[in-house]
Amino acid sequence: MAAPRVGTALAGRSPRRALPTAGACVRRSMVICPCHRPPPPGSPQESACRRGPRAPLAPRPLPARNQPPPAEPSGQGGRATVAEAIRVVVFGAHPDDDDIKAGGTAALWSDRGDDVLFVSLTNGDAGHQGLAGGELARRRRAEAEAAARELGGVRYRVLDNHDGALTPSLDLRTQIIAIIREHQADVVLLPRPWDYHPDHRATAQVVQDAAYMVTVPNVAAFAPHLRRNPVFAYVADHFTRPCPFRPDVVLDTTPVIERKLRALHRHTSQVYEWLPYNAGTLAEVPADEAARLVWLRRWLEGDQRQAHERRDALARWYGAPRAAAAQYAEAFEICELGRRPEEAELRRLFPLG
Ligand SMILES: [Zn+2]
Repeated sequence: MAAPRVGTALAGRSPRRALPTAGACVRRSMVICPCHRPPPPGSPQESACRRGPRAPLAPRPLPARNQPPPAEPSGQGGRATVAEAIRVVVFGAHPDDDDIKAGGTAALWSDRGDDVLFVSLTNGDAGHQGLAGGELARRRRAEAEAAARELGGVRYRVLDNHDGALTPSLDLRTQIIAIIREHQADVVLLPRPWDYHPDHRATAQVVQDAAYMVTVPNVAAFAPHLRRNPVFAYVADHFTRPCPFRPDVVLDTTPVIERKLRALHRHTSQVYEWLPYNAGTLAEVPADEAARLVWLRRWLEGDQRQAHERRDALARWYGAPRAAAAQYAEAFEICELGRRPEEAELRRLFPLG
């Protein structure tokens, strides 16, 4: 198992990258991460799962890296101006989780001039009925990179850990800390630890364990520590035990939903092969690409539900008229292990324009 090349993603990066110019469970009623086998029929997990069915802005300067925080209480507070771009790291277990849970928001961030890095903690080498090992891992990495291009300016890193075997080890925690530090993250997204898939739970645990520790100089000491804790936020799910998801921030992703669809379309080994096989619907998959894109829209039903079920939250962030018009949405819950932002900082950090 090759060690992740921590830091290489940022090597040689210009202070401001170019902007793009252009713009689950498996069954139709399921929207939890579709990477893998859905929960057993009749299980609590399945029950929980079934509950849910702009023009680019001018580039904004990224703040200098490793800057100390403004004079304010340790671990709290915001940046100086609303014009600064931010850095985001999205962690998922498999090389499609991030796209599914935060692809629309990532596209909005990218359009705003922010820097978004998707990280998959496994290489996805268990997610297929006919392929495995290195061949599948390489295919899934290529699919992830293609998906990131569809979102526009998003980068994707796939760590070389085996799919289905992820554990929240101390070694992995050290890698996560280094990635967050190298990226100088302002915002970190992660799954909640209540989930049917053990890799998802392990991802949640290990990223939670990295929160705060990113500010401790003598932990993972070769990567310069952050002077303040990033904002950590959970991606949405429909699990209710021990506590349901709380939509602290809800984003209208309607303007970028076609890009998210095309990003999912790039995960051919998953959305047209493994997941339909796993769900017993492989015979339904069209062969023609145009027909596949139509068929694939069922994967956006979860985003439609987020918009439908979160009208009040959308109205808080956008006002009633836009909330009423939103067709697709993604929601996030602030994790109390990271910095606790006030509303004004949330409005600056998240692409709510
Ligand atoms: Zn997954």
